[in-house]
Amino acid sequence: MTRKAKALVKDAKHSKEQFLHDKLLGWFEVNRRCFPWREGKIDPFMSLVTELLLQRTRAEVVAAFYPTIKEHLSTPDKVLERDPARIREDLSALGLQDRRTEALRALARAVRDDHGGVVPPDEEKLLDLQGIGPYIARAVLCFAFGKPVSIVDGNVTRVFCRFFNIENKGGDNRRNKLVWDKASEVIALDPTRAQEVNWAILDFGAMVCVPRGTGCEACCLGERCASYRRGGEEKE
Ligand code: SF4
Repeated sequence: MTRKAKALVKDAKHSKEQFLHDKLLGWFEVNRRCFPWREGKIDPFMSLVTELLLQRTRAEVVAAFYPTIKEHLSTPDKVLERDPARIREDLSALGLQDRRTEALRALARAVRDDHGGVVPPDEEKLLDLQGIGPYIARAVLCFAFGKPVSIVDGNVTRVFCRFFNIENKGGDNRRNKLVWDKASEVIALDPTRAQEVNWAILDFGAMVCVPRGTGCEACCLGERCASYRRGGEEKE
């Protein structure tokens, strides 16, 4: 392929990423979901606790529980000083309270003992904390520390696989390396807007590009979406 042809292919690729980036930001301005953990200055430990609880629990359920997090679980000391039985009681509305109580206490202990009570703004160190995987580590880096990093969960994977025609390997999102790479390219288009873009993709995957019965006809990405263009009936 000539240099000119390569440049054209590169531009075409770039424009598709830019298209998704700009369209989703526009969509987000009107349709964003409002959650208390997205408001004001985001505290890193609160962000860690919230992201941990958001695993396997609907965001609306965690939102209703947010005042309790703020009052009783917002610092490592508060978590460790609270009677575990009380934490289990606090968490009973969310389910998995035994496992979650242990996870929260282990997390609080590690932040207090290994990091002087301060959540480290470093991906490797966050990943060393018990129970913290790539999604949570990067969500905290982006949302609480303002770092321009991409995040990938099941919703993000579905949107990117459909839009860019990437094979969805399902299961553990760490297996979808192409999605992680593509998400990083999209975030790099404007690092100053990483937080909004990540939230936009998460919300879009939860509200529009859902596993079944997508709203393709009215979707703002439809004109460039690989899945929609080939008329695919999406199952996942
Ligand atoms: S057109 Fe359909 S499949 Fe493509 S991004 Fe939109 S909702 Fe998802």
